[in-house]
Amino acid sequence: MAAFKSALSLSSINGGHGKGGEVHVIIGPMFAGKTTDLLRRIKSEGSSGRNVAMIKSSKDTRYAKDSVVTHDGLRFPCWALPDLTSFQHKLGNDEYQKLDVIGIDEAQFFEDLYDFCCKAADHDGKTIILAGLDGDYLRRSFGSVLDVIPLADTVTKLTARCKLCGKRAFFTLRKTAETQTELIGGSDVYMPVCRQHYLSGQAVIQSTRTVLESCKVQTDSHTEVAAVV
Ligand SMILES: [Zn+2]
Repeated sequence: MAAFKSALSLSSINGGHGKGGEVHVIIGPMFAGKTTDLLRRIKSEGSSGRNVAMIKSSKDTRYAKDSVVTHDGLRFPCWALPDLTSFQHKLGNDEYQKLDVIGIDEAQFFEDLYDFCCKAADHDGKTIILAGLDGDYLRRSFGSVLDVIPLADTVTKLTARCKLCGKRAFFTLRKTAETQTELIGGSDVYMPVCRQHYLSGQAVIQSTRTVLESCKVQTDSHTEVAAVV
């Protein structure tokens, strides 16, 4: 009887509405080739006859507004959006239904990443390939990228080359004193570093920040005195 019951429930599971969507996640520090890998996969899907679309965050306007562009100059047309939920509406329902594969670049900027991946892969049968930073400049989880790992078929962590010693780089060091989490920039602001150079670089930058902060306090109090006078 127990076996009969489990056979019944299995057959009802097999007859579900799943359409065979997939989620593939590409993570790593800046300058690790995440966008290049994403473009390669999207182009390969496209050349095997599948309908593809690419989305990037409208926050990132470093290279072009309507294209995903890699640090080494490859480009691919894309939708630059503030969120993912609006994508289906912006593209149009008919076009959305025809889509097989959706690429998402700079995925850390999308707050609705988890819900979008669930719906698109589980319910709509789309293949999602997304690339994003797993950690910010303080090596904390960035946006929702790590939240989608339990949804993923595959996870690829890429590495860069340490700018200071050439060893494999796992982290992104911010070279400037700004402290907000989202600060969009290229090699003028960030560099990929190995663990050793992350720790020594972070110590140097932290002391620079402290000096800058104390200068700011001194300047402020000076201004205040001047104002009183
Ligand atoms: Zn190094």
